[in-house]
This record gives sequence, structure tokens and C-alpha cells, in this order.
Amino acid sequence: KKRDAQARVKMHQERDQAYDWEGMTFPWTKTVDMIRDKMCIKSFRHLQLSTINATMSGKDCILIMPTGGGKSLCYQIPAYASKGVTVVISPLVSLMEDQLLSLQRYGIEGAVLNSSTTKEDTKAVYDKMTDPNSTLKIIYVTPEKIAKTKTFNMKMEAMYGMQRLSRVVIDEVHCCSQWGHDFRPDFKALNILKRQYPKTPILGLTATATVRVLRDIQDMLGMSGAVVFRAPFNRPNLFYEVHHKAATPSDAMNALADLIRHRFDEQSGIVYCLSVKDTEEVARDLTQRGIHARCYHAQLTQDARNKTHHEWLRNRIHVVVATVAFGMGIDKPDVRFVIHHTLSKSIETFYQESGRAGRDGKTAHCILFYRMPDIFRLSSITYQEKVGEENLRGMVAFAQNISQCRRAPLAEHFGEEWIADMCPAMCDMCKKAATRKIVTVDVTEAAVKIINAIEVGRKKTQSGKCTALQLMEAWIGKNDRPKLGALRVATKEDCERIVVEMMLNGYLTQTYQAAQYGYNSYLQPGPLAKSLLKGPARVEIAFESKEKEKEKEKEKTFKQPTVAPLSAVLLAAVEEEDAELNSAFDSFQEC
Ligand code: ADP
Ligand code: MG
Ligand code: ZN
Repeated sequence: KKRDAQARVKMHQERDQAYDWEGMTFPWTKTVDMIRDKMCIKSFRHLQLSTINATMSGKDCILIMPTGGGKSLCYQIPAYASKGVTVVISPLVSLMEDQLLSLQRYGIEGAVLNSSTTKEDTKAVYDKMTDPNSTLKIIYVTPEKIAKTKTFNMKMEAMYGMQRLSRVVIDEVHCCSQWGHDFRPDFKALNILKRQYPKTPILGLTATATVRVLRDIQDMLGMSGAVVFRAPFNRPNLFYEVHHKAATPSDAMNALADLIRHRFDEQSGIVYCLSVKDTEEVARDLTQRGIHARCYHAQLTQDARNKTHHEWLRNRIHVVVATVAFGMGIDKPDVRFVIHHTLSKSIETFYQESGRAGRDGKTAHCILFYRMPDIFRLSSITYQEKVGEENLRGMVAFAQNISQCRRAPLAEHFGEEWIADMCPAMCDMCKKAATRKIVTVDVTEAAVKIINAIEVGRKKTQSGKCTALQLMEAWIGKNDRPKLGALRVATKEDCERIVVEMMLNGYLTQTYQAAQYGYNSYLQPGPLAKSLLKGPARVEIAFESKEKEKEKEKEKTFKQPTVAPLSAVLLAAVEEEDAELNSAFDSFQEC
């Protein structure tokens, strides 16, 4: 916490710095303005001029700004305004050619060096690098060039010796960090830059960096003194909402199709799924329900992917149903909805993916379908990752919350101070706040029963281990559903929330065992379970009060409402979960 607080103070200082960088007049101001004019850019966007000034003054600099914010301009103009050559390191080979074309339009000479560049072209670029009379301004290279190509590095050194290496830009710089969501091993090699070329300023660009990722990037690249500019995380035009996902796939599908048909008819959108197989099934099911949907994942050919992407850009496809593969470089301004069919594996991934909505600044919706068994699908895939469990925990807490603004955990994730009016009722929680009643209920008694039920669950299973659904069966299989205070008997969803809350707070924990197609997740008492059994710990959870509904029900009839025996539902769910898990691993190769 102390470190976070320090980081927060540092971030505020950095923000103050941003103000200064914009406010001063520099020797290059006239030139920069002239180039801006020539490029037909009317005015700079927030942080662009600050970044240009910081990097022009020779400072190392990191700019964190959402995709589409205009990061490229922050090196294009300095490249043009400086002597020598700017080397831009980018992992996105497919975007390099686009970047070159836009440079050409502005009359800036650029070149690309990647694995598909011919020998002749490579030689021509190498010659220009060390030719003092060359007008070459920008070279785009992949990180592999730095990591693996000796000749290129020798040319860089020669350029540096001739004082022609004016600046190194690292696009998608978060790929350096293992704490980030998109680590690429080749980025590790970039740590030589500062050692090899200490006098050359580095400019790192990214749309995503938590405080921890930022610290990691700075340590790794030797840029601890860098000026950091960060656009605020909050996107006020995005409406965040979480829907409870139905238990059966066909019900969940109907809900998804209804939502798209009724709320987003003729509006462009993305549905994110967990696995390749999920995307194929969801795209097929949506199509069967009359929605023009197409799947997108890494197992498709590059051609097929490009085709889908382009047709969607031209609004010939209504919805792209995608895995994480539909990611960096996707920049369509009028995406009106991003739906997560399954939890993401981290808040970071969720924020980035849902952030593809509403880039035009108009209202757009980010909707998450959440259901407890999805946690276990994800955890058994991500638990081997270094911070997989911690990342997922943040995502689950986001989904599980029913009392707090959806933006609050996002702010916390980005290490930002949370101010309530940052959300102008642009999330389901804030919008409903006035019309519903949240009560905090002590469910300690139920929590103790859950821990005891694990033992029963273990005895019942062959493996001697208890999955979440077997736990539910052992706990409430005999209709022993807990009372939520004096208010009502818990629904199945409420019971699931109690189990999840216990996981989030260390009363329950997961263990994993290799299975035919990956890993299965099992529940066991967590590190804090003892203090619950013996006191003094207590578990309290917020629930939405259903008092009003209950009164209405009473008015209608005196009979108990008929509910399907929970045990039957859960048993079916256990079998379904196993089949589901297996099929998920069958096709899950990207995450
Ligand atoms: P990023 O790299 O941050 O995702 P880009 O650099 O690709 O964003 O810029 C996105 C778009 O915004 C480009 O079409 C670019 O021309 C445009 N753009 C950038 N800065 C400005 C500006 N100050 N005024 C108008 N358009 C801009
Ligand atoms: Mg970019
Ligand atoms: Zn809110």
C-alpha cells in the first residue's frame, strides 16, 4: 500500500510536469508548428505537444494514451524536426506499411525492416542509415531486429557514432513487462538500448500501463528518469454493465442475441469469447438467430482474419465474435458495444478490450456476462501464469460487485484516486443507485457450512477433491439454502456469490490437478478458514434487497414459489462443466 501511495504521488508530480512541458516555449517550437501545419493538423491533442517537447529536449519519455489518441504524431513530428534518423520499434508488422503510407503523404521519408523485407531493400536501408546526405527520417523495425540481427545492430552503432541516431521509439512498450497483459520475449533485448546508446533519447508509447507495469518498463529499459505522460484512464462515454449469465448455453445465447437485436440493431460491435471453439459456436448461434456475425481468432489464416476485419470496418459485418487475437491495432471509431461473453483474465484485458468501444466519443456500451463457473474455466487456464491468479481475482471482484460504481475498481487498478463524480451515472450501478436498496448481510453461518461441506464433497468424489459445483451440491443439495438476514432465502445466484466472496477473501482457495485436456480446479479451505471456524472472522456481503418483490409475491399467492430442486440443477451443471472444460482446452491455444 505504501508503495502504491508513493507511486500515486509520483504520478501527480508527473501530471504537473505535463503542464510545464506544454506551457513553455522551446527553440524548436516554430519548426514543430510549421510541420504540424504542413501535416494539416489543426491543433494538438492533449499531451501531444508535451510529449514532443520532452523528447525534443533529449529527455527519455513514456506516453500512455488510449489507442487512437494520436501517439504516432508524437514521434513523426520530432523525427521530421530532428537531424538524423528515428528508429521506431514496433511489434505490429501489419501496421508498419500503413504507417509508411501516412508518412509519405506528409512527405517524410521512411523505411521498413522486417522479416519479409528483401535483401536488396534491406541493403538500401542500411546504406541510407550511414549516409550523411540521406533524407531518410524514420525506420520501422521489429524488436527481433534488435534482439537477433547483428548487422542491424552494427549499423545502429555506426549511426550513433555519426550522431545520426536521433531518437529510439518503442511502440507498445508495455510488451516489455511480464506484469502486463501482452509480454513479448523479444522486447527483453531492448534493455541494451540505453547501455549502448546512452545519449539517444527513448520514447516509449503504449495504451496500457498500470503503475506496476510502468515501474517494470522503466527498470528494464533503464529509463527511471523518464518523463511520464498519462492520459486519464476514465472514458466518460463508456457505459459499463454486468449481466448475470444464464446457466445453460442456449439460454445464455438467447439473451445475447436478444440484447444485440434489440439494443444494438445496425450498430457495430464485438463479442469477446474465451476460446476459439467458443467464438465459432457463438458466431454460428448468432447467425442462426439472424445476426450477421463472424468469428475471428488466431487459428484462422491471416487472409481470413484481414477479410473479416475489413468487412467489419465497412459495416458489412454486424458483430465480430473474437478471442484476444482481435486486439492491438483494432481501431474503429464507431464501435457501439463490446460484449464479454466470458470474464476476461484480468481487469487490464477487460479494460483494453471493452475500450475498443466508443472511440468517437459518443456513448457506447461495455457489457460483461458473468457466471460463477466461468471463473473456474479461466483459473484452470491462467493459474500457471506468474500473476494469473491475482489478475483473475481483480476481474472477479469487478464482476461480483453489486454496490460500487464500476469505474471504482478500474480507477484502483490504474492507481488513480477515485472521485465519485467521475461517473456521470454511466454504469449500471450508478444508474440504478437511487432506485434499489443494498443491504449488507452477515453470512458467517453459511460460510462455516460451506467449509464443512467441502469435506462432505470430498468424500463423495472419486478423486477425494471437490470442485466448486460439487461443493454447491454438498452444501445446498438438500435445499439447505441460507437465509439472507431476515430478508429472504438465498437464490442459487446468491449462494454462488457467497462462495466467490469467500474465495476473494481467502476463506476458500483453489488447487489444480492435471486432467486430460489441461487442469481442473478444486476448492479447499483457504488460509483464513481457521479464523472463520474458530472466530473472530466474519463474512459480510452486500445483497440487493428483494423486499418489494417478496411483498408482491405474497400478494399473489400463499404457496411457496416452485423452484427446481437445486441438487438436480447442480448435478447437471457439474457434468456440463466437465464437458465444457474439456472442450475449452481442446481448442484453447491462444490465451
Ligand atoms: P495511436 O497510435 O495513439 O493509437 P494514431 O497515432 O494511430 O493513434 O492516431 C490515430 C488517428 O488520429 C490518426 O488518424 C491520426 O492522423 C489522428 N490524429 C492524431 N493526432 C491528431 C490531431 N492532433 N488532430 C487530428 N487528428 C489527429
Ligand atoms: Mg499506435
Ligand atoms: Zn458508475
